[in-house]
Amino acid sequence: MASTDGAGTGTVVTRFAPSPTGYLHLGGARTALFNWLFARHNGGKALLRIEDTDKKRSTQDAIDKILEGLDWLGLDYDEAPVFQSERGSRHVEVAEKLLEHGYAYRCYATQEELEEMRAAQRASKQPLRYDGRWRHRDAADAPPGAPFVVRLKTPEDGETTIEDKVQGRVTVRNGELDDYILLRADGSPTYMLAVVVDDHDMGITHVIRGDDHLNNAFRQLPIYHAMQAIEGGWETPTYAHVPLIHGQDGAKLSKRHGAVGVEAYRDEMGVLPEALFNYLLRLGWGHGDQEEFTKQQAIELFTLEGVGKSASRFDTKKLLNLNGFHIREADNTRLAHLVADKIGPSADAAVLAEAMPVLKVRARDINELAEGAAFLFSKRPLQMTEKAAALLTDDARAILAKISAVLHAENDWTIEALEATTKQLAESLELGLGKLAQPMRAALTGTTTSPGIFDVLVLLGREESLARIDAQATPSE
Ligand code: GLU
Repeated sequence: MASTDGAGTGTVVTRFAPSPTGYLHLGGARTALFNWLFARHNGGKALLRIEDTDKKRSTQDAIDKILEGLDWLGLDYDEAPVFQSERGSRHVEVAEKLLEHGYAYRCYATQEELEEMRAAQRASKQPLRYDGRWRHRDAADAPPGAPFVVRLKTPEDGETTIEDKVQGRVTVRNGELDDYILLRADGSPTYMLAVVVDDHDMGITHVIRGDDHLNNAFRQLPIYHAMQAIEGGWETPTYAHVPLIHGQDGAKLSKRHGAVGVEAYRDEMGVLPEALFNYLLRLGWGHGDQEEFTKQQAIELFTLEGVGKSASRFDTKKLLNLNGFHIREADNTRLAHLVADKIGPSADAAVLAEAMPVLKVRARDINELAEGAAFLFSKRPLQMTEKAAALLTDDARAILAKISAVLHAENDWTIEALEATTKQLAESLELGLGKLAQPMRAALTGTTTSPGIFDVLVLLGREESLARIDAQATPSE
């Protein structure tokens, strides 16, 4: 089937262009993911641009966190990141070209004048925007030596249509576009200019970003058109504006919803990168009713046609379900190391790796895995949870004494043999297996939830198991 996402001709080049003013949040991570997948799916290039022109709000810490978050998610880039702040002179060069060819002009309006203009617009209920007062004035009118900004001469008539790969066809009347600023009075370039110049110079073919930037696309296109007329080679990119992520309450995702940097999903929630990758993919993109995707499958299947038009809702439960799936798929030694880091110095990664097949069956995050594995490293006398302590009644302790006796006589310490022996005892006592397993679990793990009780016996080994059971059993007379 022919693709309609404009990826048919030439090499696809995408970019992720975060402003480093905070952590890599979920929305940013998803934008990064979609750009990366689109490039990989089409055998193109994925590029990264750090938009650090806002010197006051950009920090090195934020840059580091973004790079670390992308790396953790497994998103790699084909070239070193471009730092927008280092490209100022190139931005100015383009602004000057626009000026020279009559596509931009100097505006000498003072702050007071502009405030008056806005007050008048407000009073007559007009939209607040620059009225083009210097657009048609003769440069000779310029007050000598006065400060000026450079504004783009946006088209006044007609309309502009974008065939957005997600939003569909969107048309805006050109009269609605203001002659916005390209260079500030101090000569520094604005975001709107910098983005277009950088996207052009980096050879970006597809701009995939949040739909909060859709309006910007209409303002950015006139720069491409002007530069195309001046020097050629400024083809406009294909746009795909992806709906934002909302919280469960339907409002735009914010800190209020517990939205945090991706590293919090790793460090605090115990989420695997491939699970967050999978979850972010499904947050706004679909392929039939399939929920679980590996990275490779995602690369094979990702197209812009699969991106939905409506905002997606963040759902922690769904994320954890996917995380459980990816935990079960994950390599046991890798999980063992993640769990060992959570448990701390008492943990032994080799023991954890051996136990992992039974530990990971139910866990939905690394914290749960660590909790479930803690019994392996507990020291006698075991600390009992309240529930476990309540289970260890006199009757239960008497049963443990009987279990102890048969297990001491058991030489074949395998799941099968231990299960057979314990079942035999349950039958002879005319008790259900649960009546034996519950106190055993409490004695062996100090808790009331654990992997299967025979798995626990084997994981702990004969000596430790018997010692833990004997510590809780009624002492023999
Ligand atoms: N730096 C912008 C942001 O973080 C993105 C600009 C763009 O994608 O064009 O919102």
